[in-house]
Amino acid sequence: MVNKMITELPGIGEKRAELFKKRGIRTLSDLLYFFPRSHEDRTRFCEIASCREGEDVCIKAEVDRPVEEFRVRHNMTVSTMMIRDDTDILQIVWYNNRFVKNIYHTGEEYVFFGKITRDKYGKRQMANPIIERAGHERFTGKIVPLYHLTGNLTQRIVQSAMENALRAAGRLDEYLPDDLRAEYELAEINFAIKNIHFPDDFNSYSISRRRFVFEELLILQLALLAKRDDNARMRGVVFEDTVCINEFVSTLPFPLTGAQRRTLTEIAGDLSGGKMMNRLVQGDVGSGKTAVAAAAIYAAVKNGYQAVMMAPTEILARQHKETLDEFFRDAGINVVLLTGGMNAAEKRRAYDYIALGTADVIVGTHAVIQEDVTYYDLALVVADEQHRFGVEQRAALAAKGSDPHMLIMSATPIPRTLALILYGDLDISIIDELPPGRKTVKTYAVGESMRQRINAFIAKNVDAGSQVYVVCPLVEETESGDLKDAQGLAEHLQKIFPHFRVGLIHGKMRPKLKDAVMTSFLAGDIQILVSTTVIEVGVNVPNANLMIIENAERFGLSQLHQLRGRVGRGREQAFCVMFAHGKNEVTLKRMKTMCESNDGFYISEQDLKLRGPGDFFGTRQHGLPEMRVANLFEDTEILKQAQAAAREIIASDPSLSDKKYALLKKRVERVLPDDVVMN
Ligand code: ADP
Ligand code: MG
Repeated sequence: MVNKMITELPGIGEKRAELFKKRGIRTLSDLLYFFPRSHEDRTRFCEIASCREGEDVCIKAEVDRPVEEFRVRHNMTVSTMMIRDDTDILQIVWYNNRFVKNIYHTGEEYVFFGKITRDKYGKRQMANPIIERAGHERFTGKIVPLYHLTGNLTQRIVQSAMENALRAAGRLDEYLPDDLRAEYELAEINFAIKNIHFPDDFNSYSISRRRFVFEELLILQLALLAKRDDNARMRGVVFEDTVCINEFVSTLPFPLTGAQRRTLTEIAGDLSGGKMMNRLVQGDVGSGKTAVAAAAIYAAVKNGYQAVMMAPTEILARQHKETLDEFFRDAGINVVLLTGGMNAAEKRRAYDYIALGTADVIVGTHAVIQEDVTYYDLALVVADEQHRFGVEQRAALAAKGSDPHMLIMSATPIPRTLALILYGDLDISIIDELPPGRKTVKTYAVGESMRQRINAFIAKNVDAGSQVYVVCPLVEETESGDLKDAQGLAEHLQKIFPHFRVGLIHGKMRPKLKDAVMTSFLAGDIQILVSTTVIEVGVNVPNANLMIIENAERFGLSQLHQLRGRVGRGREQAFCVMFAHGKNEVTLKRMKTMCESNDGFYISEQDLKLRGPGDFFGTRQHGLPEMRVANLFEDTEILKQAQAAAREIIASDPSLSDKKYALLKKRVERVLPDDVVMN
């Protein structure tokens, strides 16, 4: 029944079906799983005489005087109607609503739901109420769901469709096994689906919601674990020689930290063990992930293969090229750059080197996995600062005949429970130690009143030979309003500091120009660099010791931490000054967290705690999957339980072959990409 199309429901024709389709809803099942964003309590009835201003109430009353329309301005009409119960009369009003005339009959009884307000004479009224004929109530007198709408869909249309769908669907099959539901106290599917939409009371709602949160997280976790199982079975190129890694490490100008060494041992185990590496390395800003990646790349080349290092931006790719050239200076390893910003001739030459195998290491942006590139014998891909090296990218590489080992580097540390949901299909190494002698960046949150003093501080630092970043708020680099900000600020600063050279860099600039600006900054020709968040990841200019962040309240904490990681890379004490506006409590707490801590894991945890529910921006920034009901920041208790349940299930029945998992297994398989089968 649930597989019926929604067009079979009364009131849903082709046009409306199109609107629902925009939300991914085609079948009754899709519709029933379109959960409300909130509910409205319409259970309170009140007599007219006793209802008070500001209250949302239902009033049962008859029409006393029919609708009259008044034109109050050329573009505004007001319609009014008087209603009466045994206690008093009340005025109903509508603004610019031509449809209410002649539909309510004098002397007939209706239920009116709405907010009690006062008109300009102080008389009580109810504006734009929901009205239903008494005895025919559907959406008054109960708790009513409210949905995220698109196009011309109204709450009423969706509510009505939902009510009809619940009826038309009949009894749903339960796909969570009884023993699991008993153990984790999960509501039964039919109760839950009814009560998540039209709850009898708020307790029934929260019981029902909990079930779906659990279910959603369980299915995702099972899918990830299955995929990880699948990954573990994939055979990878065997690197016979991993001793060469020690050889490389001994050429480094510094001893590795314990955490770096531990991570390298794990990587070496993957590369020599015969299975395909699928490893995520999480490490705070400045923990030395590049050296670890370089060691793995070195091993690939010494074993006779090619390796790729992929970066999210041109700037970072170029910088990695330089770093690797430096690391491999005496090793006779040929590092080739390939970015989208290179001209056709440059690219062609790079393609040739790559195809012929003259290029040992290829560093670049997404260009490195594009169609025109053919590898000679690629065996390792390092994806730096990518939240997710996706299934598609891997498929793109596989299509070129390469099935390389994968090493993913991330500097956005996230709490362990979330890492399991986000990266449940990967093995994880954590670099939880910074190289010795690092000073923490001294961080201050200030208001506009400090502007003069901060400008003086900038001057003092530049005079002392140091360099300064000034970061402007993001939104997206593509948003024109922001570019003007950065531009305007650069011009302004150049006026204030005529003796210094102020540079500007942002995402909209041509790669060549960006590169030129970055090179002058690195060389010290530019002293003050005004930037958008293009410098967020990876950029390494050790002589920059001061960062000013404008509108710091507009950045996520993890992002501020990333930005701040651009300074404090040399020997000098580094400073970060955040101009923050707004006095709301969360902003203050966020700024305080930044000033108090330099620990990326702690900051990311606070970040998640301080975010409100439904913060999609935050979800995106952490690369978390979008959830239907679960809120990964708030439902942490349920998350832990679902993870425990998933582990138990996989431990006892890795392929979900028991009959009791039959329906669940189908759901899990739907989450997985096509190439993964559970057998
Ligand atoms: P991230 O983890 O943020 O990518 P990087 O790899 O850019 O950090 O390293 C930051 C700086 O620390 C670089 O200049 C690098 O050469 C240096 N570094 C890395 N490992 C060590 C170490 N074990 N001891 C001292 N310095 C190190
Ligand atoms: Mg890095």
